[in-house]
Amino acid sequence: MSASSLAAEAVWKDIESTRSVTDDQLSILHFLFGKNFERATRIVDQRGVKRISGEPSGRFVFQVMGESQRKEEYFCFAENYCACYSFFYDIVNRGEQLCCKHQLAARLALSLGVFIEVKVSDEQLAVLLSKL
Ligand SMILES: [Zn+2]
Repeated sequence: MSASSLAAEAVWKDIESTRSVTDDQLSILHFLFGKNFERATRIVDQRGVKRISGEPSGRFVFQVMGESQRKEEYFCFAENYCACYSFFYDIVNRGEQLCCKHQLAARLALSLGVFIEVKVSDEQLAVLLSKL
């Protein structure tokens, strides 16, 4: 893991333990992720993050709203995957950023506990993941 991912991880953990974000934490995250973090906070403010949990396993994937008028949604794992183009081009191909705005939005919403919980059966979740 890179130094900046470690720094980010420490901040997420702090936010998780207090369920709130301080100005200092905001500036660290902004420093690490720049514009993408601003976009992520907008998505979270609009309650644009759903967590789809399979029962009984409790495994989950996030479904995160995009920012355009089309209101598309992307399946995404906060740590290592997003179905959007930016993830594929900027992160996998060019290695320019740590993660996309959807992953950041998912991580922020998880830390703050402000996502919408959607429960499905493990079977339904498996079907959904098989289409990614
Ligand atoms: Zn994405």
